[in-house]
Amino acid sequence: MSEDIDDEVEFTDEDIGEIFNTITKDGVYTRAEIVKVTCPACGEAFLGTKRHAGGFIVGHKAYHEFVNEEDVLIQSMGGA
Ligand SMILES: [Zn+2]
Repeated sequence: MSEDIDDEVEFTDEDIGEIFNTITKDGVYTRAEIVKVTCPACGEAFLGTKRHAGGFIVGHKAYHEFVNEEDVLIQSMGGA
């Protein structure tokens, strides 16, 4: 079971491109590839499976859209 990883594992740059069979509480991922993604808006980077990278991307997109909308809303009301 040494190839198995879980949510507790921390990856390093050396793990990028590695293929794992992953068992999590959500289910089993086979041939899960470790990828690195960087948020273009704030530069925060995430290292992990594509499944979790997707969550990172969507999370940042939602967050930055929210913050941007908040700024526009404040400006439209005469500034903070
Ligand atoms: Zn971001």
